Amino acid sequence: MLVGVIVLVGVLIGTHFIPAAHDHGMSQVTAASLLALVGVFDVVGTITSGYLTDRIDPRKLLFFYYLLRGLSLFLLRHKSKYFRWHDSGDIQSLKHLAKIFAVARLTPDVNHWLPTREAWVKPYVGRAPKNLVIRFSMPMVDQEAAASWSHTSTVVTTGRTCPAPDQDNKCMSCRACWDPNVKNVAYGKH
Ligand code: SF4
Repeated sequence: MLVGVIVLVGVLIGTHFIPAAHDHGMSQVTAASLLALVGVFDVVGTITSGYLTDRIDPRKLLFFYYLLRGLSLFLLRHKSKYFRWHDSGDIQSLKHLAKIFAVARLTPDVNHWLPTREAWVKPYVGRAPKNLVIRFSMPMVDQEAAASWSHTSTVVTTGRTCPAPDQDNKCMSCRACWDPNVKNVAYGKH
C-alpha cells in the first residue's frame, strides 16, 4: 500500500506540478528546474535513508520524515490561495463535479476556478461552494457571453480583458478568472 501511495504521489506531482506552478506566476522553465531539483534531493534522500535505516529504527525515521513534511506543509499553508481545475480536459460526470465541490468545501481558504464547456453543469452551479467559480467557456470565437451563466469566458478578436499576453503569458497578480465579481473574462484569440 505504501508503495502504491508513493507511486501515486509521484505521478500526481509529475503531471500537475509544472502547470500549477505556472498558474501561480512561475515560468515553466523555473518550475521544471525545481521539479528536477526535487528529483536530485529524492535520490540523495533515498540513499541517505537507506544508510540510516541500517542504523536507526525505521519507525523513528519515518516519524521524523513525516513530522518534517507536516511542518513544511504547515509553513506553506498560506502560500497556495488559488487553484485552477483542469489544465486540460473537463468535468466528466456529476460524480466528478460533486467531488470538486467536496474538495472546495474542504479547502475554504483556497479560491477555486473551474473552467468548463459542459453545458449540463449549469443547473448545479448554484450549489457550488462560495470559494468555487465555475466559468463557462463560450465555444465560438467572438461569441457573446451567455447571460444565463453567472460566470463565463469568451475568446475575442478585439476587446481582450485577459492581460496574460502582455506579461509573458502569465497571470502574475491578475486573479480575474477566480474573481466571482468578474462576470466575463475575454481572452484574445491566438
Ligand atoms: S484573466 Fe487574469 S487570471 Fe485569467 S487567465 Fe488571464 S491573466 Fe490569468
